[in-house]
Amino acid sequence: MLRQFLVFSLLLVVVLSGISLPVYVQYKKGLQEQLLAQEEISVASAVQMFQKEMYEQLHMLDLIVKSDALREYLTEGTPAQQARLESILKNISTSFHRFDQIRLLDNSGQEQIRVDLVNEKAQLIPQEELQNKAQRYYFSATQKMPPGQIYVSIMDLNIEQGVVEIPYTPTIRFATQLKDAQGNPAGVLVINYLAKGMLVRFRELMTQRSDQQGMLLDSQGYWLSNHERDNEWGADLNRPNHNFAQLYPAAWPIVAANKSGILDTKDGVFRYQSIQPLNFLDSKPTHFRMDHHPLISTESYINTDWKLVIFIPREVIDSHSFLHQPLGRTLLGLMVLMIISLAGLGAYLTAQRKLKRQEEQHMRAVLEQQANIDTLTGINNRRRFYELGEAEVKRALRQNTPLAALMLDADHFKKVNDTYGHAVGDLVLQDLASTLVTNLREVDVFGRIGGEEFAVLLPNTPFAQAVEVAERLRSQLAERKVRLAEGDSISFTVSIGLVMLSPTELELAHLLQKADVALYQAKKQGRNRVVNYTEDASS
Ligand code: GH3
Ligand code: MG
Ligand code: MG
Repeated sequence: MLRQFLVFSLLLVVVLSGISLPVYVQYKKGLQEQLLAQEEISVASAVQMFQKEMYEQLHMLDLIVKSDALREYLTEGTPAQQARLESILKNISTSFHRFDQIRLLDNSGQEQIRVDLVNEKAQLIPQEELQNKAQRYYFSATQKMPPGQIYVSIMDLNIEQGVVEIPYTPTIRFATQLKDAQGNPAGVLVINYLAKGMLVRFRELMTQRSDQQGMLLDSQGYWLSNHERDNEWGADLNRPNHNFAQLYPAAWPIVAANKSGILDTKDGVFRYQSIQPLNFLDSKPTHFRMDHHPLISTESYINTDWKLVIFIPREVIDSHSFLHQPLGRTLLGLMVLMIISLAGLGAYLTAQRKLKRQEEQHMRAVLEQQANIDTLTGINNRRRFYELGEAEVKRALRQNTPLAALMLDADHFKKVNDTYGHAVGDLVLQDLASTLVTNLREVDVFGRIGGEEFAVLLPNTPFAQAVEVAERLRSQLAERKVRLAEGDSISFTVSIGLVMLSPTELELAHLLQKADVALYQAKKQGRNRVVNYTEDASS
């Protein structure tokens, strides 16, 4: 029953899985696509936010360059004009709160005007503290460019006196070369843009998403922003292991080589997108508008080649599956219950069928037996005796072995019935049969062929031995005492006719007729004796 149950369960699981698994795989794929579609809003918002922010800084640079105050300062440069420019720059720093430094450098790299944001306050740096920045990369890069072009640096952490400023100050430098009234180079304008606000907004956008794993990478795969803040700024903090390529070695080459796409891995799905924050030809922010498209150096595009990567871990995708919802769980539970019930039912029905089959087999055997067995004595009946006897005759003839036939008949049996009753007569017949069973061999064939008549075939038995067997049976039976209910017991005798199978004999019936003739002789000669068949006796 248990084995049946397990077999049915397994079968049902295999069949149901075969049907439902492809459906579920398709469903999961659809779910993943749905989740990714939702990400597109976050991706587009982030890209737009970065572009707008960069555009605004370029715009600010452009406004300063075009201001009368700067032009007059570059042309004449009187102390009053310088004071006026310093005042304007200081005002800009105060109102926008996003420029760490606004500086004017001359052609030799010497700072001429410098406004720093110190503790959220604009501060004009005194003349004696101004430094020469000729060796800094942003100065030399800008000086090499024609006037009008704009240099945008990489985003990195600000360094003060050789150490990374704490709290971290992510900075992007915007710089451009200036020209005087004659069109000659007249120094460099540099503004240090504080990118912190932009990164905060990016993180806000990413945390609005379900799993909050949104990141911003620089072109080397270092994190400018990560949901795990400790991973950020690997390049600046000299931690080369804090890199996307280290964490996702299989994903990095694909993310790095392509502008945008979806990467399906066993750990989860990556949606990656090149930001290109200076590429706002298509999506120019509308509320600020420059009168011309800013000229940006090629190097600047490389410096700001950022990538937005959204990672949806496999568990997050799985958690959206209906199997993680209460209804789905309930359905799954019901399915398991159904499997158990069906398997149980199947096993029960199979067991029932098996039981029924066994019962039928048993019944058939019993019937068959009833057809062969005499109900009163339990030995072969007439039909069965003839069936087995005929086979013995054939075999004896074929193998040319001696076969003896005995015919037994209870003497004066009618008297037994008349004196003691039919039931006692039955007891005598049963006693007679059981004596045959105990005295004959396994190979001997015998049965009850009439009311109180029994026949015996002794295969492979020569005449002398057959006489011996017959005599023994007769004497044993004569000595039997059949106990009666009252405590008395009665005896009985049998007469026996004996005949040997002759080679010319073909029929069992004929052989038994001869034994019957001999039996008749035995009765005639006074009963309780064995008589051998002779030809002359028959006539
Ligand atoms: P004999 O010595 O000449 O054979 O005398 P007998 O009385 O045995 O002669 P007969 O063959 O005429 O009688 C057989 C009797 O056996 C008749 C019948 O009532 C009785 N008988 C036959 N079958 C059964 C049986 O199954 N049970 C009982 N109790 N008696 C049976
Ligand atoms: Mg008789
Ligand atoms: Mg008789």
